[in-house]
Amino acid sequence: MSKYSEYINQERLKNNFIKMAEIDTGSCEETKTGIEPSTQKQVKFAKEILIPLLESINNLEDIKIDKTGIVTAYLQGNTETQYTLGLIAHMDTSEQAPTGPVQVKIHDYKTGNIELLSGTIIDETDLTPYKNHTIITSDGTTLLGADDKAGIAEIIEAITVLTEHPEIKCPNIKIAITPDEEIGEGVTYFDIEKFGANTAYTVDGSEAENIESETFNAFNPEIIINGIPVHCGHAYKKMVNAIEVANSIISKLPKSEKPETTQDREGYYHVDGINGDVNRVVIKMLVRDFDFNNAKKRIEFLKNLIKETEQEYLGCTIEFKENEKYHNMKEKLMERPEVIEYAKEAIIRSGLEPKEPVVRGGTDGAMLTLRGLLTPNLGTGGVNFHSKKEFISVQIMKKCCENVINLVNVWAEKIDKQ
Ligand SMILES: [Zn+2]
Repeated sequence: MSKYSEYINQERLKNNFIKMAEIDTGSCEETKTGIEPSTQKQVKFAKEILIPLLESINNLEDIKIDKTGIVTAYLQGNTETQYTLGLIAHMDTSEQAPTGPVQVKIHDYKTGNIELLSGTIIDETDLTPYKNHTIITSDGTTLLGADDKAGIAEIIEAITVLTEHPEIKCPNIKIAITPDEEIGEGVTYFDIEKFGANTAYTVDGSEAENIESETFNAFNPEIIINGIPVHCGHAYKKMVNAIEVANSIISKLPKSEKPETTQDREGYYHVDGINGDVNRVVIKMLVRDFDFNNAKKRIEFLKNLIKETEQEYLGCTIEFKENEKYHNMKEKLMERPEVIEYAKEAIIRSGLEPKEPVVRGGTDGAMLTLRGLLTPNLGTGGVNFHSKKEFISVQIMKKCCENVINLVNVWAEKIDKQ
């Protein structure tokens, strides 16, 4: 436990989190059309809840929302060297579970399952590490939204502590709270230059001891099959059924390389969606690999498979779109190892043992890192994201907040020594 732990107001942290969690801020892939957030409820949340919370912090400057829905704020640091550290979280919640409004429940957890409404049961095995903690859940009919309102609440509490204790050394801090992260659009319109941070961290992971710096390389290919539709009565030796062609392609994907048959560092092919008729079928895929060259090999495999299939089903044409999404950020991060080292140091100062798990997914930070702003991901304490079983321990939230305070402090010490 670091010396700053006692500065954190756990009650204030909890209450700010609940205030934000209660509001439905679900994003929606289908309604995202341009630069505006996919749902107006995110904008309403930003203006009515988030911005007033930021405005209640003394000395926090330049609080604003831009036309893409990103909320930013600035805290002047107290180091001799000018350096700006970015702290990033997201305001939207996942449409994989009902998003709200959220009825928050607080539990003084001892043992056993937590039983909620609509048959939602949080299993004891998930809860064992949190004996005697204060656990926050929804009422069981919606998700909780600790992903990522816990991240926002922890950043807000950390900044509040820094302004209440000007003796704590900190660099300049720029905050960004983004919309639409859950639909993969959190940083599409993020202006890195305008943001002005030299290095950043997203606070959007799970365990407090985790630093997430390694993500998949991701492609979301589309295979578009154009068949030859003919009236069934006259189809003999003429029809090429696009559905048959799609079936042939899918049946030739390696069975041992699917999300449900791989783990840890193993990559995969995933058929994510299929849509169409005899005339035209669109297959939506996810291709994932930690090694970029292997990811490219997977794309080549699909291209060859398509060529072979066109030969087999003469007359049909098959289009292929690679749709590269994001890169494993590890490679870029290795160029400046201190970005991870300082985060580890911060976690150690909080009394935890840092871990670097691989993320079988992507983060907004992975996209920012690729574009030049190195941004690994820190934990928020949340468990069972994107589900009605989502929960968070108030004590772990406090730990994650402590990590953030230690992190800015470590950076301040190191940059002034240089
Ligand atoms: Zn998240």
